[in-house]
Amino acid sequence: MRNHDAAHAVSPGESFSRLRGSQGAPGSAAGSDETRGQENPRGRHAILIVDDKPELLNSLHQLVGLHGYQADKALGGAEALRALGGKRYDVVLLDLIMPGVSGHDVLDYASREGLDCKIIVVSGDSSFSGIKHALHCGAFDFVKKPYEAGELIATMETALRQCELEDQNQAMGEKLRESEELHRFIVNNSPDLVYMLDRNGCFIFLNDRLESLLGYERDELIGRHYTELVDDDHLERARNVFNERRMGERAATNVELKLKSRLNRRGPRLFHAQSLWMELTAEGVYSDPNERTRENFVGTYGTARDISERKEAEEVINFQAYHDLLTHLPNRALLKDRLSLAIAHARRNKRKLAVMFLDLDRFKLVNDTLGHTMGDRLLKAVANRLQSCLRRGDTLARFGGDEFTLLLPEVRTKDDVVVIASKILDRLNAPFVIDGHELFVGASIGISIYPEAGDSEETLIQNADIAMYQVKGRGKNGYQFFSEEMNHSFSTRLSLERELRNGLAQGELKVYYQPQVSLLSGRITGVEALVRWQHPVRGLVEPIDFLPMAEETGLICQIDEYVQSQAFRDVAYWRSKGFDGMRVSVNLSATQLEKEGFVDRFVASLQQCGLEAQAVKLEITENTLMQDMEVIIPKLKELRRLGVHIAIDDFGTGYSSLSYLQQFPIQTLKIDRSFVGDIREDESDASIVNAIVAMARGLKLDLIAEGVENRTQLRYLHAQGCSEGQGFFFSRPVPASEITTMIRQNPFESVVREGTASAGSSAPAGAF
Ligand code: C2E
Ligand code: MG
Ligand code: MG
Repeated sequence: MRNHDAAHAVSPGESFSRLRGSQGAPGSAAGSDETRGQENPRGRHAILIVDDKPELLNSLHQLVGLHGYQADKALGGAEALRALGGKRYDVVLLDLIMPGVSGHDVLDYASREGLDCKIIVVSGDSSFSGIKHALHCGAFDFVKKPYEAGELIATMETALRQCELEDQNQAMGEKLRESEELHRFIVNNSPDLVYMLDRNGCFIFLNDRLESLLGYERDELIGRHYTELVDDDHLERARNVFNERRMGERAATNVELKLKSRLNRRGPRLFHAQSLWMELTAEGVYSDPNERTRENFVGTYGTARDISERKEAEEVINFQAYHDLLTHLPNRALLKDRLSLAIAHARRNKRKLAVMFLDLDRFKLVNDTLGHTMGDRLLKAVANRLQSCLRRGDTLARFGGDEFTLLLPEVRTKDDVVVIASKILDRLNAPFVIDGHELFVGASIGISIYPEAGDSEETLIQNADIAMYQVKGRGKNGYQFFSEEMNHSFSTRLSLERELRNGLAQGELKVYYQPQVSLLSGRITGVEALVRWQHPVRGLVEPIDFLPMAEETGLICQIDEYVQSQAFRDVAYWRSKGFDGMRVSVNLSATQLEKEGFVDRFVASLQQCGLEAQAVKLEITENTLMQDMEVIIPKLKELRRLGVHIAIDDFGTGYSSLSYLQQFPIQTLKIDRSFVGDIREDESDASIVNAIVAMARGLKLDLIAEGVENRTQLRYLHAQGCSEGQGFFFSRPVPASEITTMIRQNPFESVVREGTASAGSSAPAGAF
């Protein structure tokens, strides 16, 4: 090494700047030593002349000076050693035979110290052993004394030239090393994995990124085939990349595949393989780039970039596109996708499949009364329970709101589906306890079976939906298979809506009345107005078959207003005929109640028929009351002030608590017919009726029982102190004309007398 100050393992930044510096001043590495003159090339060299004889020393010095070289002088060996110890010399002209420290000692010293100066021995000792010894000790050359000036200078200049060559060599080596270091630095610090494969596809180079990216040591992979690094599922794709033989623009770029990683990206190292998404480039390498022949192909090189974060983001987006974010269940789009696959499969294998459309019966109520957060939690809990009813391969999707759809791709018979539907209803009937609230949500399930109920995904879903609506209509909480008759009834909700609008305009809606009877006297106290649709083709259509849709579309408002005006007219007529205590109960929908100007319109409708407000009872379900209390309460108070009677319909099926109820200006609780239906001979199941009776008593509210179907119920209700009843036991809802007859004949007095008589005298008659 000539340049003792030459930098080795320097930091990349330094090495880079030095590289740039040396590019600006070629060869400057050799010239950086300040002891070497800049202008005179010869003056750059450091020369030392050593002789124990002053005159010889001076003459040599002069001779060298004459040729333009500057030299230092050392008189004798000891002085030479001092000079060599203090400065670096290129060439030393050294006398051998000197007293004290001889030329040989100086040579020994130079070799011991590893001085890289060229020592030319100038000596009178021309013996072979003397020269041999000198050369052995590292002398560059030998000039015999008395020297010939030309020969001496030539020898010296040869030595100097050699010095220069060595300097240049070293500088070049240095530059090469730096440039290689720079490239190695760039390659190793690249955010990408950089690799090279030999012609057989085995790794011959991998940069440092390998370890931090995939957790492998370089040595583990060098010489191994690339397939060891590729995820098993992506081997085929990898073959196309890593066997890359093309170059330039045609080379493979941005191929995405998974490489095996040993790193757990979120925690400490794990030694089981997991895969990382990478984007790869690859280019063929040829021994002669101009001749890309099979023989010339030496391998492939390229980069691999970690794109796992992007892939994850894509996966999230993809997930969001096909899943419901609340429950993480598949959404409508994914269900349709799976359904169409399942249909194709079933068609090929001549198999059946089932689609269930499931709507929660009382979700809206929870959402409206307990808030959306609670609603969301309930939906998640429902989703979990539903999932626990499924088998592998079944798909449960959320269609939005409280609607779920289930695809059962493996169905042999209807009974298979019945088992699952029953299981679902069972699970959903058990209460959900959320935040201390006990919530009850039943479900209505419509089922369509491929191929009977349709052979496209749209038809199957639509028909399951239609069947679900039938369940809703028949009192909810059950399941129903789609049948062609349903299709004949109303093929779609849309056509139903169209027909209903038309029916309204054509006056096809009729008002039927069901008498309400005093359980004390058997007299008719009033009637409940119930809508019917006298359809020209389908006959008499029950409310259950069109009111849910009417509520959804808002048509319910027109229906209610129509029913009310008709009912007011009829009851005004009956009152005018002498039945002046007669009242009419009308059902109110939430939509009508919430509508602006409702009270004014209602009052106007009363006035039109000349009916007193006292003659009217509003039946409002608990659910309706809870919808928008701020809007509803003032309206009800206003109506109450005018004298309108207000009753809670279907009482006991909602979530209203006492504290809620007290905010409403109500007079009557109407016991839901399901509880009345529970009254049996043994009286064991009637505890809810008892509780409602006690509650009404506490709140000083009237009671009316709906759905009274037999004598047992009548007797029990009477015994409990329920003052009014309504139900098939007395009469089904009938047209107005029949009511007119009924009031005249008053047929229920004896019925009630007989029905309640056997109950004994213990009945707390007239409790209300
Ligand atoms: P609701 O107000 O609770 O009416 C009582 C329902 O019970 C009526 O059904 C009636 O026919 C039925 N019912 C009466 N007695 C018995 C019995 O002993 N056993 C059984 N199983 N059922 C009995 P309907 O007429 O089919 O009406 C169903 C529901 O539709 C009504 O329930 C009410 O919520 C709604 N609705 C009917 N008409 C109207 C209307 O004009 N406007 C509004 N908004 N809703 C109406
Ligand atoms: Mg009612
Ligand atoms: Mg009711």
